[in-house]
Amino acid sequence: MTPHTTAILGGGLAGRLTALQLAEQGFQVALFDKGSRAGDTAAAYIAAAMLAPLAESVEATPEVIAFGRQSLPLWRDIVGRLNTPVFMQENGSLIVWHGQDKPLAVQFEQHLRRAAPQHGAVHWQAADIAEREPQLAGRFQTALYLPGEGQLDNRQTLAALADALEQHGVACHWQTEVNPADLTNQYYWVLDCRGFGAQSTWNKPHKRTASKLRGVRGEVARVYAPEVQLNRPVRLLHPRYPLYIAPKEQHVFVIGATQIESEDVGEVSVRSGLELLSALYAVHPAFGEAKILELASSLRPTLSHHTPEIRFSRTQKIIEINGLFRHGFMISPAVTAAAVRLFTALANSNTPPAQDKSSGLVYTDFDAD
Ligand SMILES: Cc1cc2nc3c(=O)[nH]c(=O)nc-3n(C[C@H](O)[C@H](O)[C@H](O)COP(=O)(O)OP(=O)(O)OC[C@H]3O[C@@H](n4cnc5c(N)ncnc54)[C@H](O)[C@@H]3O)c2cc1C
Repeated sequence: MTPHTTAILGGGLAGRLTALQLAEQGFQVALFDKGSRAGDTAAAYIAAAMLAPLAESVEATPEVIAFGRQSLPLWRDIVGRLNTPVFMQENGSLIVWHGQDKPLAVQFEQHLRRAAPQHGAVHWQAADIAEREPQLAGRFQTALYLPGEGQLDNRQTLAALADALEQHGVACHWQTEVNPADLTNQYYWVLDCRGFGAQSTWNKPHKRTASKLRGVRGEVARVYAPEVQLNRPVRLLHPRYPLYIAPKEQHVFVIGATQIESEDVGEVSVRSGLELLSALYAVHPAFGEAKILELASSLRPTLSHHTPEIRFSRTQKIIEINGLFRHGFMISPAVTAAAVRLFTALANSNTPPAQDKSSGLVYTDFDAD
């Protein structure tokens, strides 16, 4: 540690990405995470890691959709810079529904047209489905293809980022639980990327910001299905189980995700397990023979307005990045790049702009009157 070492507090998705960009720019960086190098205490460890701004536009704010679109090429670039291979796919995603659920498809398309007028979605008829997703042939008569969407392997991404941090000389302190106050006197600046772990700090009353941080529970299943081959993530529109299946490498599939207003981080309930696995079976009965590798839950770090925020204080030398909610993988490259631009302006004693030019993200200055 030197007086110019910057501390990243929280080494989940945002923390690792931020630390990497700072280290690449030549800053001295130390990273602290209460969990392991694998990232097993991060929401990012459980996530399906879909990069789906079109499919998510039905639920996400316009800002989040924009950050998602900006982030896809940034991910391509980041993955290209990593020395450890990461599974990244950009085959688009496929929205499917059973005949009786057609009204849900009509509704989905209406939302899509409103939220993303230039969406470029294409209807696939039975013959297109048979050609491009042969194992779904005969299961669905029509589907909606969303081009340009992608996905990552979340755990490979976390591991490859940890490798890259070490290669860039970042001092990584795993299994080290700390608070900002433990670090602010010792380090040049502190960037707080603790996700839901920052709840008590974030929610302290403050004159400049009223947003509150909460956890939104999500559960996923991971299965191994050697007989099933899907070429892209598939979302099932369903009145009871509106879920997705993200095919990873080697016939591993992540099925997600429930969204429950609860901060319980306990085991997956029977009801959620049944919903996830029923959705899977409804897409293809061959999944009936799949082996369940894992049923897991985590909390999505969520702000009142469902949009991420970056806040900073020059007097305390702290920057807080939070609120990635259900879109952390989809938007973190754009959000963390905005945080890094704020940090470099502050480190050079420049007055930062009120808003990041590239991403449009607003910076909240705690010290302003
Ligand atoms: C079920 C589920 C499915 C998801 N699917 C997707 C998806 O398909 N696409 C997508 O874009 N996003 C998805 N997400 C969202 C995504 O995972 C989150 O938005 C993202 O992980 C948030 O990143 P973060 O770095 O802010 O928090 P996290 O990834 O949770 O990382 C926070 C880190 O801070 C550390 N920490 C906390 N407190 C302390 C402390 N006091 N000291 C030291 N370390 C601390 C934790 O150990 C953790 O490693 C999903 C989330 C869930 C739960």
